[in-house]
Amino acid sequence: MTTEEIMGFPVDVITYDDIINDLPHYLHTDKKMSAISVNPQIIIEGQRHLEIYDFIKKSTHRIPDGIGIVLVSKLLGGQIRERVAGIELMNRFLEYANAQQKRIFLYGAKPEVVADAAAQIEKDYPNLILGGKIDGYTALSENEVIEKINHVKPDFLFVALGFPKQEEWLAKNISRLDASVFQDVGGSFDVLSGHVKRAPQFFIDAHLEWLYRSLSDIKRFKRILQLPVFVIKSLWWKVRKKQ
Ligand code: UDP
Repeated sequence: MTTEEIMGFPVDVITYDDIINDLPHYLHTDKKMSAISVNPQIIIEGQRHLEIYDFIKKSTHRIPDGIGIVLVSKLLGGQIRERVAGIELMNRFLEYANAQQKRIFLYGAKPEVVADAAAQIEKDYPNLILGGKIDGYTALSENEVIEKINHVKPDFLFVALGFPKQEEWLAKNISRLDASVFQDVGGSFDVLSGHVKRAPQFFIDAHLEWLYRSLSDIKRFKRILQLPVFVIKSLWWKVRKKQ
């Protein structure tokens, strides 16, 4: 696997199929797979979060999650040509879990959101095992959350606490979590549960769902405005690195 560097952050040149093909290696051993989204926001804001930077460095799969990553890779002479979207990767993991009757655990999002996401997943993927769910605002202590997850020993643990909470939580706790595959999934439970509507089919077909969601959500719109800053900073980083 080839790894590129953007402003010091590793990003893997990888596709959905590469990641799915790697699953048996982790599911059949005691090794842990961490499929972590690398996007412009994480690279820019992650400069201030050393523990997140270290965690991403140590992660097994650093996915190029964002059109900004693809663009910058191209401009820096890299090989990343395709975005691997976190939510789409989660769907692929769920398909795999369904086909192989694997156990999953959902952690994060509002109570009604994670409940609805769990119900939808059970409907769409009837052969996987939903080991459990905990919302992201739970009164349980960190240790109690971990105990509950470890009691289930899920094959897949999806963490939806948003950036930077989910990465910080994983960085701190992955070594004592009894699961095989870990993914930080941001707002994916909101989409899966139907609480956030998917884009019209035209946008999905044109791979422009990110654009639709950015235009309909002010927080995401602000992230789009970060994009030119990210491109310029990345190019400047490369120039200085060469000197
Ligand atoms: N979230 C949570 N606990 C928190 C903060 C956020 O469970 O303390 C959830 C939030 O409800 C949402 C998810 O984290 O379901 C992602 O939030 P956001 O949209 O901010 O993240 P992004 O997709 O932008 O990374």
